[in-house]
Amino acid sequence: MTDNIFANLKDRSNSVFKNKKPLDHRFLPENLPHRNEQITLIAKYWVEALDNVTPSDLTIYGKTGTGKTAAAKFAQQQLLEAAKEKKQYIRVEYIKCTDYTTEYQVLAQLCQRLGRDVPYRGWTKGEIINTFRDIFKQEFNGNELILIVILDEIDILLEKDGDGLLYTLTRTDNVSILSISNFLDFKKFIKPRVMSSLRDKEIVFPPYRADQLADILKERSKMSFKDGVLDEDVIPLCSAMAAKEEGDARYALDLLRTAGELADNDKSDKIIGDYVIAAKNEIEHNKVTDIILTLPTQQQRVLEAILILTKEKEEITSGKLYETYKEVSKGDSVTYRRIFDFINELEMLGIISTNTKSFGRGKGRTNIIKLQCDEKLVENTLYSM
Ligand code: ADP
Ligand code: MG
Repeated sequence: MTDNIFANLKDRSNSVFKNKKPLDHRFLPENLPHRNEQITLIAKYWVEALDNVTPSDLTIYGKTGTGKTAAAKFAQQQLLEAAKEKKQYIRVEYIKCTDYTTEYQVLAQLCQRLGRDVPYRGWTKGEIINTFRDIFKQEFNGNELILIVILDEIDILLEKDGDGLLYTLTRTDNVSILSISNFLDFKKFIKPRVMSSLRDKEIVFPPYRADQLADILKERSKMSFKDGVLDEDVIPLCSAMAAKEEGDARYALDLLRTAGELADNDKSDKIIGDYVIAAKNEIEHNKVTDIILTLPTQQQRVLEAILILTKEKEEITSGKLYETYKEVSKGDSVTYRRIFDFINELEMLGIISTNTKSFGRGKGRTNIIKLQCDEKLVENTLYSM
């Protein structure tokens, strides 16, 4: 009989890890170093719910990986624990707006979680709003339900579906909103009529400094790695590299986990700094590959045209790019104007950069486009499809 194919892989005796889970970014640690101030602020507003008063709406801002989601979920658990002791009827519902992207979907999801059977499509907005509001008419042990809705990544929903959800929620008694956004300017999507009833309190999550990231990594590595496998410069290196990437704790954790995986691949029983450097390259590669593979076809062709011109060592102007792009797309091409949208999007994704070049007074200007990631990597990805 042959061995089960998983038997070998599951053998942890030669691994630097004792448990990989704590290094996964979905893991919610019991302790969030350097976020005490922010969590205490959330609690200061939410404590009202324990007296059966609807808390103020809150907004959390901060760049990716600054602990916004973790802090909100931590506060959620704490409040629910406290509510159980006080026998208050409080619900805190976490909604990720990348999963539920419209007002209808969010309200239907909330109704479902609160025990109302509503279809995921087909009803009018009015029907779903009425059903949602009806939930609050019931009392439990003489208490009304207080619902706190955490809307994580709210900018995605606002951009896609407008501010109708906020309008409905702010106009439902007993509902308090905690919005979480990666962008400071997400409120540009909210119209004045909704802003006036939102009256939220804002909490900022600053980027972590290297020493703070090191504290976070130390806690998680104790749970994840076997004793003595980490070289002493590994955590400082991961922290310094992630501090440069805008204080992103998720990136710091990814670096550490990937460094461990590379050590395992090498059958090394120690993780040294070199593995962190290699981890950085691997993560960057994966990120670029993912982005390129999920681009729409026409945009991939624009990128292919940029690649061709880069290899020919040409200075890439939008005019030249359009000519090459038309050759690449063999008749099935978009207009010249549309190309500028594609250039903008590729630049926002960090794949290319553009620089305006001026030909001197009155002679006009043009954009010079440059590839910002590894040429070979782009080539391999584009031609592997
Ligand atoms: P954001 O929502 O701001 O993008 P997350 O809350 O998802 O960031 O945090 C990213 C990762 O870093 C998660 O795995 C989270 O558990 C971890 N993390 C962030 N801040 C802390 C902290 N203060 N202590 C421990 N882990 C943290
Ligand atoms: Mg988050």
